Amino acid sequence: MVFSLTEDQIAIRDMAQGFAAETLAPHAVRWDEEKHFPVEEMRQAAALGMGGIYIRDDVGGSGLSRLDAAVIFEALSTGCPTVAAYISIHNMCAWMIDRYGADEQRQKYLPKLCTMEHLASYCLTEPGAGSDAAALKTKAVLDGDHYVLDGQKQFISGAGVSDVYVVMVRTGEAGPSGISTIVVEKGTPGLSFGANEKKMGWNAQPTRAVIFENCRVPIANRIGPEGIGFKIAMAGLDGGRLNIGACSIGGAQGALDKALTYAQERKAFGSRIADFQALQFKLADMAIELEAARTFLWRAAAALDAKTPDASKLCAMAKRVATDTGFEVANQALQIHGGYGYLADYGIEKIVRDLRVHQILEGTNEVMRMIVARSLVGRAKGN
Ligand SMILES: Cc1cc2nc3c(=O)[nH]c(=O)nc-3n(C[C@H](O)[C@H](O)[C@H](O)COP(=O)(O)OP(=O)(O)OC[C@H]3O[C@@H](n4cnc5c(N)ncnc54)[C@H](O)[C@@H]3O)c2cc1C
Repeated sequence: MVFSLTEDQIAIRDMAQGFAAETLAPHAVRWDEEKHFPVEEMRQAAALGMGGIYIRDDVGGSGLSRLDAAVIFEALSTGCPTVAAYISIHNMCAWMIDRYGADEQRQKYLPKLCTMEHLASYCLTEPGAGSDAAALKTKAVLDGDHYVLDGQKQFISGAGVSDVYVVMVRTGEAGPSGISTIVVEKGTPGLSFGANEKKMGWNAQPTRAVIFENCRVPIANRIGPEGIGFKIAMAGLDGGRLNIGACSIGGAQGALDKALTYAQERKAFGSRIADFQALQFKLADMAIELEAARTFLWRAAAALDAKTPDASKLCAMAKRVATDTGFEVANQALQIHGGYGYLADYGIEKIVRDLRVHQILEGTNEVMRMIVARSLVGRAKGN
């Protein structure tokens, strides 16, 4: 059971927080406005070991734990939740190759992913298959020593810029057991991208459809045997959900810190607004909720590190708690800023917009409840 960080973890957190403060935070509002994807800055993060956090070290990974990753993503998000969240997705893809790929595939892809010379995208969602991901239809048909891919993925983070696409495709029957995972490299004929989506937040990373039309990919690019793609995708998401939860906590912590500073400077009715007890209680509740979410997230991360049987359920629970709490706390921080919180310059409204999508992606928070409910009452028909 983890209740405090080790000296090493504190050093890792301080390193990530320092990077976030110096390299991300000063530019976060502008990157959001300009829809700029800061690839060079992410490569700087990778040079500090954040491109392959829980990847084995023989291919350039940092070999750290899920708990270490949760600490890192919280710290990075205090600078910019959007950039931190993309680095999280990149790490998830790299881990899927590290864990399920053959050694040749690990050696081919992971060194450049760990340095972020190459970026990765996770391609599961389709226009007709979001929460019900096992209904995906993008097909991969064998033709000699290649698969021929046809279909479309929707909402893919990093798409168009990424070099490596980890794609869940249908190679067999309907349902989860007919799904396989294939790596498609940028530049493969038949691979194209939709327009960069206009979004409420997460503007510092692109989101595009990924389109496959008669796209021929060598069989050697399949990760693991046919039919385990859904398992690989879900295993990736266990850690992804922890990371996204950590990004929500970090973003909210950043918003709370801004609110604390503001409340001690802003005056109304002849005193600092921080002197009003109603506001003090609001600030106290924000700190309490965040600490509770953080502690729970660390427990889920420790369970995933220990590979306990309830780890997936705990990751789903923690994602629900951390992302809902993070959004609420950030929204309260905006309220404490009054009208100024609504202005872009203060950087608060951006955090609220960024954290909103964490309640939707990597499995909506309704899907998190479905996962937990299944463990309580069994699987309902159709779910
Ligand atoms: C900015 C952004 C980035 C994204 N990045 C990626 C990415 O990189 N890779 C990727 O693969 N996907 C990505 N996604 C997709 C994301 O994971 C999906 O949007 C999400 O899983 C929900 O799917 P959907 O949008 O099709 O909603 P739907 O599945 O259509 O759900 C609609 C609503 O119904 C609810 N619902 C559905 N089924 C049930 C049920 N059984 N019980 C109760 N409620 C239910 C949902 O919770 C939701 O509120 C991204 C999305 C966004 C917005």
